[in-house]
Amino acid sequence: TTRVIEALALNHRPRRLPVRLERGSYEVIIGSGLVERAGALLSAILPQKRAIVISDAHVAELYLHPLLEALSDSGFSVQSLVVQPGEKSKSLEEFQRLTDAILEHKVERRTAIIALGGGVVGDLAGFVAASTLRGLPFVQMPTTLLSQVDSSVGGKTGINTKWGKNLIGAFHQPAVVLADVSTLATLPLREIKAGYAEIVKSGLIGDPDLFAWCEKHGEDVLSQDPNTLAEAVEKACAFKAAVVTEDEFERKAEGGRALLNLGHTFGHALEAEMGYDGSLLHGEAVSIGLRLAFMLSVRLGYCPQEDLDRLTAHLDALEMPSRISQLGRPFAARTLLDHMTRDKKMQDGKLTFVLVRGIGQAFTCRDVQAQAVHDVLVDDGCAP
Ligand code: NAD
Ligand code: MG
Repeated sequence: TTRVIEALALNHRPRRLPVRLERGSYEVIIGSGLVERAGALLSAILPQKRAIVISDAHVAELYLHPLLEALSDSGFSVQSLVVQPGEKSKSLEEFQRLTDAILEHKVERRTAIIALGGGVVGDLAGFVAASTLRGLPFVQMPTTLLSQVDSSVGGKTGINTKWGKNLIGAFHQPAVVLADVSTLATLPLREIKAGYAEIVKSGLIGDPDLFAWCEKHGEDVLSQDPNTLAEAVEKACAFKAAVVTEDEFERKAEGGRALLNLGHTFGHALEAEMGYDGSLLHGEAVSIGLRLAFMLSVRLGYCPQEDLDRLTAHLDALEMPSRISQLGRPFAARTLLDHMTRDKKMQDGKLTFVLVRGIGQAFTCRDVQAQAVHDVLVDDGCAP
């Protein structure tokens, strides 16, 4: 019984992770039951007991009421605004509707915007916070695994345009991130797996111990064990925080934030080809893209075959997406390559990719032959 009590105590003591930046730092607080304790936690951090919560309809139905109650119990005056779930809400129209409503509420410079939801809500509400009155205090309360391990940390906010995703936005760091892992209990397994791919990615980029931890505990993450989830979120956030500290505004030509795109060039091509209709989640595309990046690194002689085999074995053991052929429709290597060259300028048939020298050793490579990428895609079952 003492062990059970210790486990419970551990469960209820949130983990606090600092994100250190030049102009000050903020904390990522990770634990269970943080929605119910948000009033007390935020009273200590925010400059004013006034806030506007932005959420989406799915999340609002589940967690908005408890959050509003917790905030008003701590003396906050609080209003809420709800958007439709889904990527479509990251639009100029929704941005305008929200800022209009917020200004109508006569907010002050110290009124906080709280994002309660996944990456869509976080990016949209973050951009609203960044731009309304030239910047309001912002709180991230991520409720998907992807947003807890990735999008809520680092300060990137933004919306989509007809020219592409995330093309209008701002860097706006939160005052605090409250990652309540108990909210993940209602998240579908498919979304959990999509977020898990970004955790695996962190290990593959620069933290071999994290990848080894995933091999040991990945199954418990996917079965949504709260303590293991909290540990996974903490490890992945610690990794992302270190990268962000080193390259807050993505200015480094080598390394830095660019490495976070491991597997993403392949992933984005698959997403673009599938048409962003929800049939392929970003994290699913990344999961397949990670293995393709390893295949490319092996083909170019940078990475030992054993490391690729280890990654494949891990993804397959957890029934994570790992091969293009699992997407259930044919792809042409040429078409995917077209997507990759569309937004990046290709020079002399060469492309820039994040590659690996092995697990935990990613680097930026500026002269990858398009032909090698083509061959890897064909190797994974694409038509030429
Ligand atoms: P999402 O926000 O669309 O959430 C996925 C789905 O889960 C939605 O239908 C949502 O309503 C639902 N949901 C959320 N929390 C839930 C919960 N606890 N229980 C049940 N359902 C829940 O998707 P996402 O994967 O969290 O985020 C994707 C977005 O994040 C993309 O727009 C992407 O561009 C962005 N992103 C941003 C960054 C960054 O650095 N800013 C990084 C990565 C991704
Ligand atoms: Mg990503």
